[in-house]
Amino acid sequence: SIRVRFAPSPTGMFHVGGARSALFNWAMAEQSGGTLVLRIEDTDASRNKPEWTEGIIRAFAWLGMDGGAYEGPYFQSANADGHAEAARTLRDKGLAYYCDCTRDDVIARTGDQHKGYDGFCRDRGLEPGPGRALRFRTPDEGRTVVVDLLRGEPVFENAVLEDFVIARADGSVTFLLANAVDDMSQAITHVVRGEEHLSNAPKQQLLWEALGHEPPVWAHLPVIVNEKRQKLSKRRDKVALEDYRDEGYLAEAMRNYLMLLGWAPSDDREIVPWEEMVAEFRIEDVNTSPAFFDVKKLRAINGEYIRALPVEKFVAACLPFLEDAPFEVDLPVFDELAPLAQTRVALLSEIVPMVDFAFLAEPPFDEASWSKAMKDGADDILAATEAAYADAPWEAEELKTRLEAVGAERGLKLGKTQAPVRVAATGRTVGLPLFESLEILGRDRTLARIAAARA
Ligand code: GLU
Repeated sequence: SIRVRFAPSPTGMFHVGGARSALFNWAMAEQSGGTLVLRIEDTDASRNKPEWTEGIIRAFAWLGMDGGAYEGPYFQSANADGHAEAARTLRDKGLAYYCDCTRDDVIARTGDQHKGYDGFCRDRGLEPGPGRALRFRTPDEGRTVVVDLLRGEPVFENAVLEDFVIARADGSVTFLLANAVDDMSQAITHVVRGEEHLSNAPKQQLLWEALGHEPPVWAHLPVIVNEKRQKLSKRRDKVALEDYRDEGYLAEAMRNYLMLLGWAPSDDREIVPWEEMVAEFRIEDVNTSPAFFDVKKLRAINGEYIRALPVEKFVAACLPFLEDAPFEVDLPVFDELAPLAQTRVALLSEIVPMVDFAFLAEPPFDEASWSKAMKDGADDILAATEAAYADAPWEAEELKTRLEAVGAERGLKLGKTQAPVRVAATGRTVGLPLFESLEILGRDRTLARIAAARA
């Protein structure tokens, strides 16, 4: 059965592109009864931080990839002996040689910044020593054909593959070797990763063959771009998965959306139950053209997932956002507001400005709302509403009927009559349905706020 892996380097916040790769690997493993190995490539100690490793492991759990086909986490650093042994084997077989050329030496000889290594040390027979790196000797002739499930069989002429470094002068092995050796030791059958690694595939395939292994099947996933068609980057774009979580994206919505980056379920469906998504996914059907990370679409999908939650789940999902809000939440009151809010939020964080009026001692003050609603005639409407509500049965339908009557006497539609009352009671021109909100706010607070607005 298949063994795939996700092999992130913990050099920053866990990226949505990484999450997409991990999910595609996960779907391949789950649907075939295979295994997804999580391997943290932590060998570049100067660029790693433990919190980034923790972030990756947390993200796996958040997205639901911590059971089933999951195996790990493994740490690349734990296989240092395996890497060193592979380097030694290649050297013993005459497939790697020591080289003391500096980058400047090579440029001086080739006269070209962009040309690869020129093979100068190939036959010098250098012994290991300070300043000497170990290079893999690529074949002079023939071609390396990489089987890529998305790209057919890209052909690389061996003559243009430079002799690349597998161990640095300080003895540390490079990414190309360590990554391939780990894939071999972990019996990986399919290497599914980002397109930026496509040019590494022929070099790594040569390493598999040189070390006596049948190479894996490859799949290099398309890049993810922003609305300007630029590759998503942590400097320009919001790419950290945790930032999306903190804004109130649900894990279910996030993973559904990420699956659409380069692949599409049948019948133009966008929202697909997870089990179906996993069963239907076919790596061969992934596109090679850049995938647009459409935050608007993600947001819309998140809204759909929020609306589909049972209300108790919605309440529970909102609580962490309310805990950070500048007011104390009265839970029974929130239970009443929640069904009204659930259809109106696209992100969980939007719950706070939607319900704050019910928990703050005074309604929030929003300048734009006040100047828009409190125009000529507003005071008159508020005075009439105060009188009409003083003895009203405190129930939404009745409050609406009475406000309609206030408007009718003035020749105003409900929308116009409602605006100053809404701003007086909730602080804003937009929000939850007004009369249900007033019912929940209660007579005393509603009347006090109307009076305060008139003062
Ligand atoms: N550590 C590499 C990266 O994060 C892994 C690439 C691969 O999947 O082979 O880019």
